[in-house]
Amino acid sequence: MKIGLEVHVALPTKTKLFCSCSMEAAEPNSCICPICMGFPGSKPMLNKAAVESALGIANALHCSIKKEMSFVRKVYFYPDLPKSYQITQMEGSIGSGGYLEIGDKRVRIRRVQIEEDPAQLIRDGALTLIDFNRSGTPLVEIVTEPDISSEEEMRSFIGSLRSILYYLGVDINKEIKADVNISVAETRVEVKNVTGIKSMIESLRFEIERQTEAIRNGEEIAKETRGYNEKARSTQTLREKESDEEYGYIFESDLTVFGTEGLKFNLPVYANEVAKELAKGTDVSSRTVSEIIMLDRDSLAQINRLRGRHGLRSIIHGIERYKKYGSMERMPDRVLDSIVLLIDNGKEVPKEAITDLESGKDAKVEYSELSEEQLDKLINEYVAGNPELINEYMKQPKTVNFIIENIARPNGLHPKVVARRLMPILNRIAESR
Ligand SMILES: [Zn+2]
Repeated sequence: MKIGLEVHVALPTKTKLFCSCSMEAAEPNSCICPICMGFPGSKPMLNKAAVESALGIANALHCSIKKEMSFVRKVYFYPDLPKSYQITQMEGSIGSGGYLEIGDKRVRIRRVQIEEDPAQLIRDGALTLIDFNRSGTPLVEIVTEPDISSEEEMRSFIGSLRSILYYLGVDINKEIKADVNISVAETRVEVKNVTGIKSMIESLRFEIERQTEAIRNGEEIAKETRGYNEKARSTQTLREKESDEEYGYIFESDLTVFGTEGLKFNLPVYANEVAKELAKGTDVSSRTVSEIIMLDRDSLAQINRLRGRHGLRSIIHGIERYKKYGSMERMPDRVLDSIVLLIDNGKEVPKEAITDLESGKDAKVEYSELSEEQLDKLINEYVAGNPELINEYMKQPKTVNFIIENIARPNGLHPKVVARRLMPILNRIAESR
């Protein structure tokens, strides 16, 4: 089985792709002008911010970047497209020949192209209404080769892509939209405009079953474009698959050829790589870390802030605990810090404790009080009993947190109290070597 995707990503610009109309959500047909309404004689002007955003995506997907890109008119008639053509890219696409890694596999990216979204048709009983606010808003279309061969791979592809976009700062709160091309045998069937991974998977399952059944019955599978019906969870024929010739692509002469050199773009921070780096030398798997930071970009900053005071495992555990019981959208550092302290001291962190912490009450952590002599004795004993850990610390000072935790936790001590007495002792050892 071969699956190829054409994924549409809305770019987070302030204005539309070819005019200065606002992208802010507003009353229907309030953010419009002659350019995005397709009036005769209106001339498009390219939005630089949209190109830079698309450039970041093409680069993150390892595409080669066209030094000079150009646009074409994809000619067809539909009520959402009054000028009778959509401005898009083909040979002149901003990026091509890239890939996205899912596990050990590379899914090749044929093309990353910039295009405009048409207007939005709203069906209302027997009426169809048109909202032109969406007309001319910038999209990036990511076209893959048919390298995906299972439902799981499709899920991983979309997951990885979302993560890349997220870490590029391309805000994709909306669900991803895609055309899903599925061939169980030779013939390719395209399911158009599927929104969200759930529907993508359901349409895929339906098509596999339908095409397999047809092959079993000796029927010919038509090369066609189908639509996905969310309610019926099935696909239906929309039209015969059109060929590129039928669209009559022609060069968009209102826009010139654009040089891309010298344009700025964001470099992505890959969640997976960040997670690997964070998990190095700890007992937490990089997968666990990446799952947490992929869900919520704030948690990465939070982990980095608390890393000096706590072990990674405790922080992750604290974040998971908060996600389960916390009520604030963004967990304050103060709250997470207290949760982690409770965890470090072997305490349970029930919902009530988190509610208390959120309302500003102190964490009910009781620490043992030791005299300085008792504390030094304890630390010296630990240091003498764990020469490998101390040697490791001399090479990698970061491991000090592990030592602090090991002393503090079983003795019910505050990690800061331990750190205050431990550091001079370690420094003395380092000097004597
Ligand atoms: Zn406009």
